[in-house]
Amino acid sequence: MFSGAIARVEGAPEPGDTVLLTSSSGEALALGAFSPSSQIRVRIWTFDPAGEIDSSFFDDRVRAAAARRNISGGWSVSTAGRIVFSEADGVPGLVADGYGDVVVAQFLSAGAEKFKKEIAESLCTVTGCGSVYERSDAESRELEGLAPSNGVMRGAAPPGEIEIIENGLKYFVDVRKGHKTGFYLDQAINRSVVREISAGVKALNCFCYTGAFSVAALAGGAESVVSIDSSEKALETARRNAVLNGFEADAVGCVCADAFEALRGFVAEKRQFDLVILDPPKLAADKGSLERAGRAYKDANMHAMRLLPAGGTLVTFSCSGLVSAEEFQKIAAWAALDAGVTARIVARLSQAPDHPVSLNFPE
Ligand code: SAH
Repeated sequence: MFSGAIARVEGAPEPGDTVLLTSSSGEALALGAFSPSSQIRVRIWTFDPAGEIDSSFFDDRVRAAAARRNISGGWSVSTAGRIVFSEADGVPGLVADGYGDVVVAQFLSAGAEKFKKEIAESLCTVTGCGSVYERSDAESRELEGLAPSNGVMRGAAPPGEIEIIENGLKYFVDVRKGHKTGFYLDQAINRSVVREISAGVKALNCFCYTGAFSVAALAGGAESVVSIDSSEKALETARRNAVLNGFEADAVGCVCADAFEALRGFVAEKRQFDLVILDPPKLAADKGSLERAGRAYKDANMHAMRLLPAGGTLVTFSCSGLVSAEEFQKIAAWAALDAGVTARIVARLSQAPDHPVSLNFPE
């Protein structure tokens, strides 16, 4: 419920307090969490105005989220995955990812913040995981008037690095300092796709972070891999992830560089790669940066396409919520035009199914 839709607030609710929403005619509509400093003034917990927002409410929501993912005190194909994905699981502001025995939680709204103890308890009860580590350091918390907060919430402190298995491959995850909750779990299926199309290829993985796509390509039989990231620390982990899976550290071919510049350089050197992976960080943070982001996406894709021989494959991503899939396709089309290549979409990839999209809240 945006601030502009609210005619009046009765009483003096505190940030995160549960409030009853009523229509202009006084009809009770829903219960939600009040957030006075956010433009999203109320986030709906339930459309049942007679409901109760308490620990059993969160138990139910977390249990339903886990059940949808078949999580019951353990993991199967992978030892890591998303357990709760905010609005898509009916818990606005809560992101919870499981890494082995550790749940890493982000409380991103005033309402989730208020109930974080109850939520942490639900997460342990439902998953059987021993500890909950808080990673509430996402910038979006500022909009809710919340300061960053990291640390152990329940159970033992997680080790400096957790070893996870994703579709048979192993990766080190730093849940304390790594990006997001430590790992890009949303790309899990896409890493399997890359693995399947890597036999015998020369692969280039741009914005590789800890080399997850690189290791997948090696496991799929890539002839060679080059991995680019601007973070030396991420690349160091990429090398160790290679070793963890039985490859030489150098097999991931780490290059610490600005990927946009490196791509341009490779084009100038007339290098060729059969498979290029482009997974840049979110380039469009807000509407004001959309145009610039569009140009950056186009440039990177254009250079990547120039590196492909006939029959080569580009696996390209955008994680900018503001850039629609339709718009991204247009950007790719402009990139192909300017690269002078005829390109076809052979598959549309998306986030892993443990990151579902709610039809009534696609944002
Ligand atoms: N594909 C990765 C996730 C990529 S996240 C995975 O599956 O795990 C984006 C990465 O881009 C981060 O590791 C960040 O360090 C890196 N990055 C950001 N800006 C960059 C730039 N200009 N050049 C190279 N790397 C950059």
